[in-house]
Amino acid sequence: MKESKVLIVGAGLAGSEAAHFLAQRGIKVVLVESKAKNPNPAQKVKTAAELVCTNSLKSLNPTSGHGLLKFEMEKLGSLILAAGKKTAVPAGDALAVDRVLFSELIHKTLVENPNITYIEEEVIDPLETGKKYNCDYLVLASGPLTTEPLAAWIKEKIANDDFYFYDAIAPVVDAESLDFSKLYYKDRYKPVGAEEGEEADYLNCPLSKEEYENFVFELTQAEKVPPKNFEELKYFEACLPIDTMAERGKETLRFGCMKPVGLETPEGRIPYACVQLRKENLLGSAFNLVGFQTRLNYKEQVRIFQTLPGFKDAKFIHLGSVHRNSFLHSGRVLNFDLSSKEIPCLYFAGQITGVEGYTESASMGLYVALQIYRKIKNLEPIKFPNETAVGALINYLMTQTRPSPSSINFGLLPPVVLSKKEGRGRDGKKFKKNLMAIRAQEKFEDLLKQMRYDLKDEGF
Ligand SMILES: Cc1cc2nc3c(=O)[nH]c(=O)nc-3n(C[C@H](O)[C@H](O)[C@H](O)COP(=O)(O)OP(=O)(O)OC[C@H]3O[C@@H](n4cnc5c(N)ncnc54)[C@H](O)[C@@H]3O)c2cc1C
Repeated sequence: MKESKVLIVGAGLAGSEAAHFLAQRGIKVVLVESKAKNPNPAQKVKTAAELVCTNSLKSLNPTSGHGLLKFEMEKLGSLILAAGKKTAVPAGDALAVDRVLFSELIHKTLVENPNITYIEEEVIDPLETGKKYNCDYLVLASGPLTTEPLAAWIKEKIANDDFYFYDAIAPVVDAESLDFSKLYYKDRYKPVGAEEGEEADYLNCPLSKEEYENFVFELTQAEKVPPKNFEELKYFEACLPIDTMAERGKETLRFGCMKPVGLETPEGRIPYACVQLRKENLLGSAFNLVGFQTRLNYKEQVRIFQTLPGFKDAKFIHLGSVHRNSFLHSGRVLNFDLSSKEIPCLYFAGQITGVEGYTESASMGLYVALQIYRKIKNLEPIKFPNETAVGALINYLMTQTRPSPSSINFGLLPPVVLSKKEGRGRDGKKFKKNLMAIRAQEKFEDLLKQMRYDLKDEGF
């Protein structure tokens, strides 16, 4: 019987994980990487799995979203985490690495594996390249800076309008850090009292004329993140950063995302301007500042957003940004095992699927490799429970109506319900996270049992 062979495009974080997972199980892999021939401006080294910005793989704490994801990745035999631990530098409870040693170690592990053929080449048409190397399955793990010809191929053959080139991220604030006495729930144009309190989808932050004008002034003066030389920023008019809108004129924001029309306060007064906050999850534990994508640097965002009514002690789960990023609307064009609906032997892994972050991207490499391995063994794709970190990321990708890349956080997992007493204050939050972490680990262990049974214990 002919041996299966897998083509993986991109030796970044996801591609390296996928190649290693398959090769360790005896599957032949052709790993094709373009950067030695055609590096993008963020790349500095020639070796695989390059960390292009910070050297941190984030928290190791098992009761954080990142800690949970690491627990699951280690159980799946993550090369990225093993190399990370061998090349770690001190960083408290985070896993930070010596990025050069990290990348060299991963590169060496890959090229020395007899089942991996590492080829320096830019892929333009993956089907042609797959044919050239006689591969049965293809994985596109070409990342946020996928080269232009390949991006054009993906758009034409797979995604059409469901492929994005820029990512405008609005900040997300932790609900517990807000002063709710200064905010009110109401959906635009719904009569006052139509949805009582938390029944409404939006929480509103009303501003007086003076507060609004100060806010706009601060936005125009604040320090911005300069675009990288490969980011010629061309914005969609419907998705302008708030600082760009503020620069266009004092009133622009009041006619844009800070429009107060239809947002009467409970007393029936129309505020001068209004920031709308949308629930990030069913729990209402985090809120997205609607339309607040911004180029302001992080320090300035915190300083200026904390001047908003109710935001004095605001803590942000993540801050806003605008950057170059190629990603799919996975829920529309991919199946839950991340194979293409259009071309079933073609899979996507890494940031291009719509996750955000080094570890999240790597975890998608492991996930896809596992699904391909099952396929090679004539097994059905396996669903990861939504209560696990990997399962929650997949569920997020598959259910987004307006895709917006996300890192792993507890808001993506189904909530645990606590009594009022248990859920109160700081301890309640910690207690909830602990319960979610324990539940996730139990569900993941059950999944491993199933995989061991299906695959007769091969390497789990
Ligand atoms: C400028 C920038 C800074 C970032 N900073 C951070 C950060 O600080 N922390 C964080 O957690 N995340 C960060 N990210 C987000 C993201 O997590 C990383 O980009 C991560 O490396 C994505 O992993 P990946 O495997 O999907 O893609 P990558 O790691 O980018 O790997 C993709 C690989 O595919 C190759 N490739 C592209 N096109 C082709 C082609 N046509 N043929 C063959 N090979 C190809 C590329 O050269 C690359 O090596 C950043 C992203 C960018 C763009």
